[in-house]
Amino acid sequence: MAKIIDGKAIAAKIRTEITEGVAALKERGVTPGLAVVLVGDDPASRVYVSMKEKACAEAGIFSDEYKLPAETSEAELLGLVAKLNNDPAIHGILVQLPLPPQIDTDKVLEAISPEKDADGFHPYNVGRLSVGKPLFQPCTPYGVMVMLKEEGVELAGKEVVVIGRSNIVGKPVAMMCLAQSATVTVCHSKTRNLADVVRRADVVIAAVGRPEMVKGDWIKEGAVVIDVGVNRVGEKKLVGDVDFAAASQRAAAITPVPGGVGPMTITMLLYNTLESAKRFAEQLNS
Ligand code: NDP
Repeated sequence: MAKIIDGKAIAAKIRTEITEGVAALKERGVTPGLAVVLVGDDPASRVYVSMKEKACAEAGIFSDEYKLPAETSEAELLGLVAKLNNDPAIHGILVQLPLPPQIDTDKVLEAISPEKDADGFHPYNVGRLSVGKPLFQPCTPYGVMVMLKEEGVELAGKEVVVIGRSNIVGKPVAMMCLAQSATVTVCHSKTRNLADVVRRADVVIAAVGRPEMVKGDWIKEGAVVIDVGVNRVGEKKLVGDVDFAAASQRAAAITPVPGGVGPMTITMLLYNTLESAKRFAEQLNS
């Protein structure tokens, strides 16, 4: 029976360290600041934004919220981003996605200063990650890497199979595993014989968005399984991309859904904001 990787406990530990780091920086006269921009009233986005604000408050991070109407123009949003880029109280800028259709998402993400890109989605930061010199790393994959480290999973030389190649999870987590000298295979909707590819994996990272698609008999005995997927089944139940009950009979360790990767995402947003504030503080002192 697999060990359950407790994302809540790992996130709580990292958040305590972040809170201490924020307090130490405040003693040097710098309060880390995160600007959160929400356009429109998508209910899920509203929940995420309020969770982010609450997490900032708990860690002692200043959060500046901008709730803009759904009809906000691209020019108005770009104007706000430009203002935040120049605001010395702000060290991280997060524009909650998705944006309404009249706004070009890429244009907005590229307008955020790469030095305040708390989500790590700016092409500059994507490039930094791919050349092995990361500045901001995207929060969900970064959270996966912290979980693996906290669990003592050594990646060098291991076969890692990532299922999903999105820009926010699959591709960056593959880059991060490669940077730690894993042998990485990235699968997607056109991958042939997915089950056989997954059977090779010492570490499986599933980021697909299909409920319980990864079956128990795809998991090699003793593998580590990280399930990023969050899928609503019926009214209330959330399940991951992996058949948890069956996979945990074979895996050495596995993340549950909920309570696995989920709590790490906001934690790494706080971490990114703190690290950015530290960099700004160093620039002030030099
Ligand atoms: P996307 O929809 O952007 O990407 C899904 C990926 O899965 C694509 O690369 C797609 O392939 C691939 N895929 C789809 N069907 C199959 C299949 N049958 N076999 C193999 N691969 C397949 O999703 P995201 O990366 O944004 O999110 C993935 C999951 O992670 C979702 O459940 C999401 O809710 C969750 N998530 C959780 C977060 C958290 O904080 N815990 C944060 C972010 C996401 P192709 O490219 O060929 O279309």
